[in-house]
Amino acid sequence: MRKHIVAGNWKMNTTVAEGVELAKAVAAKAAEVPAEVKLIIAPPFTHLYPVAEAIKGTAIGLSAQNCADHTKGAYTGEVAVDMIAGVGCEYVILGHSERREYYGETSAKLVEKVKLALEKGLSPIFCIGEKLEEREAGRHFEVVTEQVKDVLFTLTAEEMSKVIVAYEPVWAIGTGKTATAEQAQEIHAEIRKVLAEKFGALAEEISILYGGSCKPSNAKELFACPDIDGGLIGGAALKAEDFIGIAVSF
Ligand code: PEP
Repeated sequence: MRKHIVAGNWKMNTTVAEGVELAKAVAAKAAEVPAEVKLIIAPPFTHLYPVAEAIKGTAIGLSAQNCADHTKGAYTGEVAVDMIAGVGCEYVILGHSERREYYGETSAKLVEKVKLALEKGLSPIFCIGEKLEEREAGRHFEVVTEQVKDVLFTLTAEEMSKVIVAYEPVWAIGTGKTATAEQAQEIHAEIRKVLAEKFGALAEEISILYGGSCKPSNAKELFACPDIDGGLIGGAALKAEDFIGIAVSF
């Protein structure tokens, strides 16, 4: 059975104190979540160490929201994979549409980051998804296929087995517009089919998360779809009650 995962992307929100409080609130409610659902939280870099301390001894996984495409050196303002692994991260979100759009992250750069993360033992949560104009032009399958091929097809099967994929239609992120369960299932199935072209039966083992205005009220319908293995949650991850409300929807 594929792993069910609910991951919270806090983005650039909360002070360190608020973040620690939120992590503790999530930990306090984690027992409500079925044991087969893996919870992951992705606070800002500055919060990683104290949040790691706050969730010590729980099954909650810790993720960074990004990492550098170099291992160390003269890269002012960047944070290396070793640094995030050193504070307890096991995951790193890569290729989020906000990074692609506002910070010019290309597939070539993402190949470097994904490979570095894997080399250092982290699991990338690799995000893909089409923009509104691409969906309206009927190009959504083509866009996600290209995003998958450009980056994930450069990996070996062993590397791929550590990757979590997150399909996040850009038009649904932070907009309150969720993809319908049918739209999401259709494209998740397509992503799995594309992964199978290169990785064969391994594609059946890869968790593919849905992201984009997922909340407690719509999670059940989305998670009931056969190819949706969980969610990458933005806004609703900032309230422990909502985040857990989503995670209990399996
Ligand atoms: C995200 O940015 O990963 C996301 C899914 O955001 P939201 O849930 O706020 O749409």
